[in-house]
This record gives sequence, C-alpha cells and structure tokens, in this order.
Amino acid sequence: MAATYKEKAIVLRAYDLGEADRIVTLFTEGRGPVRAVAKGIKRTGSKFGARLEPFTLLDVILHEGRNLDTIVQTEIINAHAPIRADYGKYLFGEAMLEMIEKSLRENQTIPRLFPALCVTLDVLEGEVADPSLLLAAFDLKVCALIGYHPHLAQCLNCGRETAGEKVWLNLIGGGVVCVNCRAGLDDLIPLAPAALVLMNQLMALDMAAISSSRVSPALAVEILSIAFRFSEAFLERPLRSRAVVLNYLEKGAL
Ligand SMILES: [Zn+2]
Repeated sequence: MAATYKEKAIVLRAYDLGEADRIVTLFTEGRGPVRAVAKGIKRTGSKFGARLEPFTLLDVILHEGRNLDTIVQTEIINAHAPIRADYGKYLFGEAMLEMIEKSLRENQTIPRLFPALCVTLDVLEGEVADPSLLLAAFDLKVCALIGYHPHLAQCLNCGRETAGEKVWLNLIGGGVVCVNCRAGLDDLIPLAPAALVLMNQLMALDMAAISSSRVSPALAVEILSIAFRFSEAFLERPLRSRAVVLNYLEKGAL
C-alpha cells in the first residue's frame, strides 16, 4: 500500500510540467534521489510558493506513487538564495548538484553523502577564495564516498611511495603510477608534484578550510579538470554543467 513519508531533502533539479505542475528531483537524506511531482504549484496561492528551486534544503512530506512520488507538504530550512543570486556560484553549485544526480541511482543511499552536500552548499553560499578548489574537492570527496577513493600515496603498480615525484594519474586504475610503471598504459594524466600535493590536501581538508585556500589560477583549473576527468572515468559520461564551468573560467570571469 502506498505510504506517506517525511524526509529532509535538497532540490537537485526542477522543471515545469504543463500549466500547473512541477517535477523535481530531490536528494533525500534517507532515500537518496527521488523524483516527485508538486501539483498545482503554479496556481495563485499555491502552498509551495517558490520553494522548489535547485539548492533549496527543505523538510518535505511525500506520498509514494508508482512512477513519481507526490509532494504533499514542504517546509524550507535554507533556500540557499545567495547561490542562485551569484552567477559564478550558481554554475559551480549546479555542477555539484549534477555530480550527485549522475552518481546515484534513484533511491540509492551512500552514507555521509547528504551531509557532505549540505555542508558544501553552506560553504559555497559564503565567502569562497576560489570556487574551483571547492568544486574539485567536492568531486573527489564524492568519488571517495561512493567507493572510488583516488590512490595517491603509492604507485598502483609497484607500490613505491611517490611523494615529491612527477607521477601519472591512471584513470582506469583510480590512482597514480610512477615513472617506471607508466609505459604501455592508456588514459594517463601527468601530475606534477604541486598538483599531487594539492590533490592530497583537497582530500584531507574540510570544506571550510578549502573555502579560504588559494593557489595559482592555472593550478586551480588544472586540478578542477583532473577532478572532472577522474570522476567521469567512473561515471562513464561527461556532465553538462562542467563544460559550462570550464567555459566560464576560460573567459576569465573570476
Ligand atoms: Zn611504479
């Protein structure tokens, strides 16, 4: 029998359906991604108001349906309006939401992923020295939580510690290989010592610390591209929002 349930959720995506309804993809705390319909949202005096916009954190009551669940009631916790009000923050935030959406199946839950997104959006909404570092860290941390922790300390092949050396990131193996072991391998990204150190820092530091970190713009873009390629290697597809972010950075909009 269909049941009604309550969740804390972040709106990943929302679009209008017909004259009155809105379809939303929610990332719920307890049930992972859920697709749901908000009926009559565009009518004057709708009880949902403008709350079902991407980035909004809310308490929501849903009714289970066969294809789509139905949103019964919502209560806003944080609208994250500063993210939507700032074009740059919005683009970086969109790339984070798409990363979550494309990494998980409907109703798939991964421990610690929901709080990780909440914390990251809270940080993104405030002062951020370089959003490229925040997005790169987010992508790498999501990979790690899902089970694709990048192996950066030792060569995947011979096990030798590689700190301070130039190494190559092996996208298929999910970690670095040393100069002796790279021959014959495809899908390698060269990693200079500075890039390797930064990747390790992004994995180790929390988001608040990363939000005040700064490196050269070239290194930040390099790390972001590497994080994109690393995560796309297991997602097995490019994400639309990332091309927009890279284009924005290329134009020097920051
Ligand atoms: Zn090796």
